[in-house]
Amino acid sequence: MSSETPLMKQFHEFKAQHSDAILFMRCGDFYEMFHEDAKTVSRELQIVLTSRNKNSPNPIPMAGIPHHAYEDYAAKLISKGYKIAMCEQVEDPKLAKGLVKRAVTQVITPGTVTLSGVLNPSSHNYLCSLYLSKENIVLSYIDVSTGQAKVTRFCNQSNDLTSLKEEILRVAPSEILIHKKLMDHAIFQEEILKYLMEKSIAFQKWEHRISKTTPLFFEWISKAVFNSSGLNKNDDSLMALEILFSYMEKCNIQSEVVSLTHYQTEQKLLLDPNTIRNLELLQSLYSQSKDGTLFSTLDKTVTAAGARLLKDYILNPLIDKDEIETRYSIVDAFVENFTQLHAMRDELSNCYDLFRLLNRLLNQNANGKDLIAIKRSLHIIPVVKSILSELNLDHLVQNFDSLEELVSLIQSALIEDAPQKITDGGLILGGYDQELDRLHRLLNDQDQLLADLEQREKDSSTLKTLRIKYNRVFGYYLEIPKSQAAEVPDHFVRRQTLTNVERYTTPELKLLETELLSAKDKVCSLEYKLFQDLRDQVLQKISSIKQWAQLFSYLDVLGSFATKAIHGQYCRPQIVNDDVLVIENGRHPVVEDTTDSFIANDHYFNAGSELVHIITGPNMGGKSTYLRQTAMIVLMAQMGSFVPADLCKMKVFDRIFTRVGASDDLGAGKSTFMVEMSETAYLLKHATNQSLILLDEIGRGTATFDGLSLAWSVIEYIIVELQCMTLFATHYHELTQISQLNNKIKNYSVSVLESKREILFQHKIVRGSANRSYGIHVARLAGMPDSLLERADSILSDLESSKQTVIGLDTKSKRLCIHGIQTPLFEKPSPKAKHPILEKIDQTDFNSMTPIEALHYLYDLKEEIRQDKKGK
Ligand code: ADP
Repeated sequence: MSSETPLMKQFHEFKAQHSDAILFMRCGDFYEMFHEDAKTVSRELQIVLTSRNKNSPNPIPMAGIPHHAYEDYAAKLISKGYKIAMCEQVEDPKLAKGLVKRAVTQVITPGTVTLSGVLNPSSHNYLCSLYLSKENIVLSYIDVSTGQAKVTRFCNQSNDLTSLKEEILRVAPSEILIHKKLMDHAIFQEEILKYLMEKSIAFQKWEHRISKTTPLFFEWISKAVFNSSGLNKNDDSLMALEILFSYMEKCNIQSEVVSLTHYQTEQKLLLDPNTIRNLELLQSLYSQSKDGTLFSTLDKTVTAAGARLLKDYILNPLIDKDEIETRYSIVDAFVENFTQLHAMRDELSNCYDLFRLLNRLLNQNANGKDLIAIKRSLHIIPVVKSILSELNLDHLVQNFDSLEELVSLIQSALIEDAPQKITDGGLILGGYDQELDRLHRLLNDQDQLLADLEQREKDSSTLKTLRIKYNRVFGYYLEIPKSQAAEVPDHFVRRQTLTNVERYTTPELKLLETELLSAKDKVCSLEYKLFQDLRDQVLQKISSIKQWAQLFSYLDVLGSFATKAIHGQYCRPQIVNDDVLVIENGRHPVVEDTTDSFIANDHYFNAGSELVHIITGPNMGGKSTYLRQTAMIVLMAQMGSFVPADLCKMKVFDRIFTRVGASDDLGAGKSTFMVEMSETAYLLKHATNQSLILLDEIGRGTATFDGLSLAWSVIEYIIVELQCMTLFATHYHELTQISQLNNKIKNYSVSVLESKREILFQHKIVRGSANRSYGIHVARLAGMPDSLLERADSILSDLESSKQTVIGLDTKSKRLCIHGIQTPLFEKPSPKAKHPILEKIDQTDFNSMTPIEALHYLYDLKEEIRQDKKGK
């Protein structure tokens, strides 16, 4: 180590402070990486690995990238989950004595990155923190690029961290900071940490010091609290937010809170991660892309903020009837007024990503282009207002500042095609500032000004051949032939004598020269100052701009719903208080878009008469599609969207659970059957009578008897314990008999046209059960060899003729029969009898006792328990 060069010493110093990051060390025009960092970067970015002192016995591995291209390289590393510490030269290398001074000016991490190569305009990128207080685990998260932050809490008393885990997965943060106290929690480690590791979500322990003294934090939070409703200043939410803030401060990332929302997970329709995945809401199961998802089908937004909000709506459907109806009424207004809808979308498409721009503004790094983008976005306000007024939706902009003055101010101040840099001038328009205009005139008119001065001196003297000239050494001067030297006026000051000419200056020429030479610098610094003043004036209006930004994205999403509703012929759902779900001619929004011949189907649920539907029919008949479309329609309705159906009348559901599709989690060491059973167990545990359950082929992953028994028991459990609307698709025909046990269980099947050897799927769901599964027909369609199919046919007819019933119902006794033996039905377990001691306490009137009597009573009870134990 002692023989280390100064540069390497510097490297090790910084590396010691940022051991978890790759150090990008600025060396002239390159960023260099050394040692392990160099190996990592070379491997991950496919760049050449060299070494620093090749001839020494221990050469130092080194890799480098040109400084101007660092963003692309950094973006790739961040996307792979690495952190980068940017170590810059902080003094001019030409002026440096010895080794140039360097400092880590920023740490870029997956959760704090603002590089455009990493950020997806239509997705949020969240940095998240988890804080453990006495009563709660607080989850807070911020999108550093937009300044939108959210906070929610989970009770830490229960040992069930499922809701927290689910919320983390819904938020899908890029990086999580975990309060040290929480990290040491065994259940947390088991339930959450394991999961984060499985899902490769970056997290780190955060040693949180409760330092209310961080003044910047309080500046930050006071803005946030000011902006938010429902956040109490003594809240433990502040601690979770402080973790975010301290981390950003440590990374030297500036972010301001543009908005802070405090919410409770119970205030929305909860979608668990299985359902989000199984229904392919944001990501397709097979390609992992957004193609074929509900998001891609519904996304007709025209702004990036609109697309982000749509994703938010998909993952967080509403449960408040009034809020849902508010969205419907706006979508309705758009649907009924196509011209206005079209005009609104046209206007919104001129809107830039205001949230990201506002964040740059708050961080003082908005440039001329950004202010122009803000102006262009706000420019649409008058048209948006008039369209809303035509639609009788003026209340949406009630008390909004129209910001006309601000728009005209920016318009009068900035050049439309403003440059990136704000220090080099070329930003401010003529007519905005008198002094700037004078300086520009000076620069534009310099030839004329010099000519005028020359003329004035000629006119006031006899020096008719006098000329103003310029050279680098003397600047501007007046030149006359030597012969006329005696005629020069008094105010001429001699500068230089040459063989034939004399050169002079005058106080007026001197002044003009100084002005001309400094005008360029003055223009740049004056423009910079004017720009900063302008930026401050825009900043003053930030809350009004934010209101408009939120409204624009809201209108964009609802306009997108309306556009889809018109093109897809969707209907406005009716949200009712009755316990029903009635859909006429319902369609699957995604599948419908891929085919010209989608067959619509009805759904009828009524808590009083039809609660569980068992759907049988051949594979490929359309069962899964039917199940999924029910969930999609309910979800869309609660998002505030119209739905693909002719009629939809429904109550508000609290959760949707799905167990559909084969989603192996082999990576997590689970077999298909294990996944199927865990997902089913999960939904049975969490569903309420206000939930919707979709189960597709439960039990098919195991032997027939196991599977059939499990499937049967699941249906019984649902009807007896949960009493929630359920769709149950199965190929176990035996299950259809269960409908005779309870009249709220109904059988449906997919209709099939059958000829001798062929079947035609009609995709129509009809009342009644299917009488066979057509497995061999489907195998024929799939191209199995003829001889094999004939053999299968003959085995099947033998089996059918043996008429062995595995499970069935004795029609007389209405009892379950298994292989002909009757067995009792599942019954809701009667509540356990209370312990006698508890019973005793319950019946005692403590108000009539003195404290001493109560104490004696307590001793007696204890003695009774002791005796009881002895007896056992
Ligand atoms: P199952 O679950 O019964 O095996 P699926 O729901 O997977 O059947 O549907 C099989 C195929 O039939 C899918 O490719 C789907 O596109 C098509 N399909 C399903 N339902 C319909 C429908 N209602 N109208 C038109 N095509 C449908």
